[in-house]
Amino acid sequence: MSNKELLFVPAPTVSHVSPAVEAAKLLLTHDRRLSVTFCLFNMPFDPKLAQYNSSEGRVREVARGIVARSAGSGSGNPLLAGFVFDMFCSALMGTAAEFGVPAYVFSPPNATFLGFVFHVQKLHDEERVDTTELPDSVGELAVPCLTRPVPRWALPDVVADKVWLPIMLGHTRRIREAKGILVNTFRELESYALDSMGDDDVPPVYPVGPIVNLEVDDVAYDDDRTNEIFRWLDDQPDSSVVFLCFGTMGTFGEDQVREIAYGLEQSGHRFLWVLRRPPSDHEPKSNISTDYDDLIDILPEGFSDRTVEAGRVVGWAPQKAILAHKAIGGFVSHCGWNSILESLWFAVPIAAWPMYAEQQLNAFQLVVELELATEMKLSYRMKGENDMIVSASEIERGIRRLMEEGMEKRVKWEEMSEMARKTLMVSGSSFSSTGRFVRDFLG
Ligand code: UDP
Repeated sequence: MSNKELLFVPAPTVSHVSPAVEAAKLLLTHDRRLSVTFCLFNMPFDPKLAQYNSSEGRVREVARGIVARSAGSGSGNPLLAGFVFDMFCSALMGTAAEFGVPAYVFSPPNATFLGFVFHVQKLHDEERVDTTELPDSVGELAVPCLTRPVPRWALPDVVADKVWLPIMLGHTRRIREAKGILVNTFRELESYALDSMGDDDVPPVYPVGPIVNLEVDDVAYDDDRTNEIFRWLDDQPDSSVVFLCFGTMGTFGEDQVREIAYGLEQSGHRFLWVLRRPPSDHEPKSNISTDYDDLIDILPEGFSDRTVEAGRVVGWAPQKAILAHKAIGGFVSHCGWNSILESLWFAVPIAAWPMYAEQQLNAFQLVVELELATEMKLSYRMKGENDMIVSASEIERGIRRLMEEGMEKRVKWEEMSEMARKTLMVSGSSFSSTGRFVRDFLG
């Protein structure tokens, strides 16, 4: 049998490209007849924008390159045999049909989110339910992927927002046409959601996670500030430092920054706080400063001097290396899925403070459904100038709950962490389902 090539088309953001590359590496370990190529480009999420056409052109160009290579005389080069599109690149799935090969989908978000959007699309298409206009009397939404109904505050932006909903519905309808879906999760964590998709006309779902790219942090950060932070961490007692980090895009206004600073001081706990200044009104949204010097003047007066022993503030931290450090005892997180998996991997319990996208749903799942995490502020949503403010005393309480109470949750978290590692080992459930995908693909 000739060798077969899969062309990966990830969405062009760090938190989508990185797990896709790691997922591809896992697939490659299962069969030497498989090879993989990545097609990278800049693409806005809205497929109506002009740049989208050039992305499609780019995918075709890379695919034609593979086809031409394999046709070279006696080359023995692998045949293009399938595409793996990021779930948010589903608008490009038509190119697979042009090349006469199957389209698979890779979902960096978890199985619960996937089951959730499939259900919302079905409600919309079959029962004309518009989740952006639920009557006030509907306080929650029952979904097959969770045992508990989802409160309104936990609805992901993509189903609660009028601009996003049609885009998400389009993605979801197309994803239903995929030959299979690879998901960055593991059965031990999300068995209920995974099983719920079995009878919902959904293509076969292959959990292949948790995908945690452990190599990146070791090599990528070697600046003076980061080195100083690690030296400081080395001097702290085990499990004594609370780590606060809100993903690649999480920012707070100055009022909220002040409350966090006071909350940290009042809690009396050691801390490492990743803080970023939001872009100003005339700057693009992606213009988030990670420069530490830029932050000093948004912290309360005297904060840095008062906390020189107890904590550190930084504009960007190598999160995985930080979570792996023995001094870290808790993580105040925005509940991005990568952050949750990384925190599970290193057995650092989370206090949930979701901000945007599907993070409220992730936080609901962790705190209410799975009873794994504690709450910082579940119903928080980052909205720009109308952001709600979480007070210093709520933050203090949240940090104390995370660091001082909840032994039961810590034990559960550690058990899940062990399962997260075992599932990727030979005969683990994600290892098996990755192998099943490769066998199904190679035929
Ligand atoms: N990250 C990091 N340092 C930071 C902020 C983020 O290393 O200061 C990494 C984090 O480890 C994770 C990714 O960026 O791998 C964020 O992904 P996630 O899905 O948690 O959140 P998103 O950025 O997509 O909201």
